[in-house]
Amino acid sequence: MGQFTEKQGVGCALAGFYTALAIEKVLPIIHGGPGCVANAQQIMGNQNGSQQGVGFSEGMLPSTNLTDTDIVFGGGKKLDELIDNTVQYFDADLYIAIGGCVAAIIGDDMEEITGKYRKTGKPVLFTEAPGFKGNNIWGHTQILKSIIEQYLPDKREKVNKGQVNVWGIVPYYDPFWAGTCDAVEELLKDIGLKPNIIYGKGRGIKNIDKIPEAEFNLVLSPWWDVEIAELLTERYGTPFLHYPSLPIGPTETKRFLKVLEEYANLDSEVVSDYIRKKEDRYYFYIEKGIAHLYDARKLPKRFYTMANSTYALGIAKYFINDLGLVPEKQFITDGVPQKYQKQIAEEYKSFDGGIESDVTFTLDVGSAMIEIGNDEGKYHNATVIVGSSWNDVPAKKLGAYNLHVSAPIGDRVILDRSYFGFDGGLHLFEDLYDKVAGMFGIEMA
Ligand code: SF4
Repeated sequence: MGQFTEKQGVGCALAGFYTALAIEKVLPIIHGGPGCVANAQQIMGNQNGSQQGVGFSEGMLPSTNLTDTDIVFGGGKKLDELIDNTVQYFDADLYIAIGGCVAAIIGDDMEEITGKYRKTGKPVLFTEAPGFKGNNIWGHTQILKSIIEQYLPDKREKVNKGQVNVWGIVPYYDPFWAGTCDAVEELLKDIGLKPNIIYGKGRGIKNIDKIPEAEFNLVLSPWWDVEIAELLTERYGTPFLHYPSLPIGPTETKRFLKVLEEYANLDSEVVSDYIRKKEDRYYFYIEKGIAHLYDARKLPKRFYTMANSTYALGIAKYFINDLGLVPEKQFITDGVPQKYQKQIAEEYKSFDGGIESDVTFTLDVGSAMIEIGNDEGKYHNATVIVGSSWNDVPAKKLGAYNLHVSAPIGDRVILDRSYFGFDGGLHLFEDLYDKVAGMFGIEMA
């Protein structure tokens, strides 16, 4: 049976250039068509939490802007000239030429062109990320692979005890990436580790250089960056801990910390102290903030999801295990490769209290919208839809609370917000129950 995708929750592979933009003073050089960057912006940048590149913004990225003539005569010369000018006029620590569909169809030899610059001491890498080969998560993986394989040394010289590289965050696609990097870094420091994260403010090339020295790699996602951790094991012998969801709220963060304590042989007193302090703080704020939430009919009991796997699963665990909500139809929309689907589906069978849910993996957000919309009038109590701006149509039909957490998000400005950890649970609680409180209105004496 033929299939088509009506609405998407992912960008094309070239949109992986946002991963380069997230690393301070790393400059993507686009070898693609004139509209490719603008296309990526619609799902990764301005229409996803109102984000843009810092230092180098999308509108000024060097691009070959390939046209019909280049398709006939080749775009290699144009790329060569562009790199030549870029390394003179842009002050970057690392340059990555990223090829889209047009460059791949022409067959320009990007390795040879960029290799010429590497011989002159300029760190110019290349990544082939044509949209017809994969989505932006695949493109993100190709960018990281290029950095590891073309920039970092073949072997590691030393191991820095306690250093942990953090993976499983796809910058810009995840609009909470910057706040999450800060929050993960803070947590790991507080329990005695030395976190090494390459994205965000004040990190950049010096943290890329430290990647080979890590004692272990940590992946905080059901599948994003597992391949990168495997590559680092192969290349440097670095082991990795794959924690298969983003810990949100007290229950899952406590579990994560216990797993980490055992894996990294951490001081259990330090970890327990951290948990105690953070848990006390969490419940203080929850108790303080629920005075307004008294009308049981307006409180949500069930939630639907159509979001990327990291947030779909992380939020499902928080909603079920901490807030007592019941899962309804669950759609995961970030193109999870088949080999990871079984493990994710098993996570949906092991919520606390024996609660289980089926989960559907689809790239077609349009069909998820229709299926959820079909439940119009099914439940008396309020429901929640967790997802993206595509939520709006079914949310209107169901009269559901509408929580935008997954790309594209056109109606939020996301700065340092994060849902990670104990404090992240508080933020998610606020974002959900803000909407509920809005339904109660103001009561004047
Ligand atoms: S699919 Fe190809 S042509 Fe379209 S934006 Fe992506 S790289 Fe450019």
